[in-house]
Amino acid sequence: MNNRNISNKILHWYDNNKRILPWRKNVSKKQKQYFTLVSEFMLQQTQVKTVIPYFINFIKKIPDLNNLSKVNDAKLMKCWEGLGYYSRARNLKKTARKIISNFGGVLPSNIDDLKTLPGIGEYTSKAIMAIGFNKPIVPLDGNVERILKRVFYLKKEIENSKNNLNKKISFFGTSQRSSDYAQAIMEIGALICKPVKPLCESCPISKSCLSYKKNDFEIFSKNKFNKIKYFEAEIYKDKDKYLLVKNDKFKFLRNLLIFPMREVEKKKFKSTQGKKINIKMSNMEMKIALNKKIKKTKIKNSFLLDESNINSFILPSFTKRIFKSVSKY
Ligand code: SF4
Repeated sequence: MNNRNISNKILHWYDNNKRILPWRKNVSKKQKQYFTLVSEFMLQQTQVKTVIPYFINFIKKIPDLNNLSKVNDAKLMKCWEGLGYYSRARNLKKTARKIISNFGGVLPSNIDDLKTLPGIGEYTSKAIMAIGFNKPIVPLDGNVERILKRVFYLKKEIENSKNNLNKKISFFGTSQRSSDYAQAIMEIGALICKPVKPLCESCPISKSCLSYKKNDFEIFSKNKFNKIKYFEAEIYKDKDKYLLVKNDKFKFLRNLLIFPMREVEKKKFKSTQGKKINIKMSNMEMKIALNKKIKKTKIKNSFLLDESNINSFILPSFTKRIFKSVSKY
């Protein structure tokens, strides 16, 4: 199958099967670029299904770049609350400010300028170029990588390098409908060429796929090492109020409210009595011992938060999860 055939088949499939997503709405060019910017930041590290309600609410509360550049941090974080990776929200606002001050309020339409904006790297700049500006680029996200690994039956480590995958991307060719085309390829990865049990019978490019021919869909992966870390959280309760602290100690959840915690050795963790919970964060497996404290420890930037009040505060899911565990504890 030549590139032209491939792009036609993929677009035909997309036109008949694409998901209706709020950032795919027919809007003005300017609005489309804002939608692309916000959705691409949200989609870094987070699945489409999770992002949808956040995106709808975000656009309702912060409808354009100008509003985003001026939004107060509490409102911004409230819109992001629960989505995780909060530095994305902070970077998104910094990016809006920089677009206003350095680019006359217009999202730049070239990769080099896009990459000067906070939170925009190689992938996001290409995604914005393709989706927001209809440029003939296919960004290499996890979905596109998986398709390429299967189409070319890439089983060795060297074949799976980013460099090699970037070369293989020419397999898709280009289309004048570049924005749709980039989204169509990613959509096939998400809905058809799924990590487990790909739906090859519905795949528009199965004729070109070596994995399909060989009936072997195993993907090469260098096992991402999940670091296990051990923590002790301090649970101090005074009537219905819990002691929380603004986190300036750990790199994760920086500046957000958490229970006072410290990292401990495995041995110390094992010897700790009381309830223990596991929380996965990025590529870190956190094992947390919840230690009830009778006496309040004096900690900088800490305060008592009433349990019935937690919804009016900006709390990361991490803290809410601990709240859930301690309220039954
Ligand atoms: S034929 Fe199957 S394995 Fe190959 S790209 Fe399509 S869905 Fe993926």
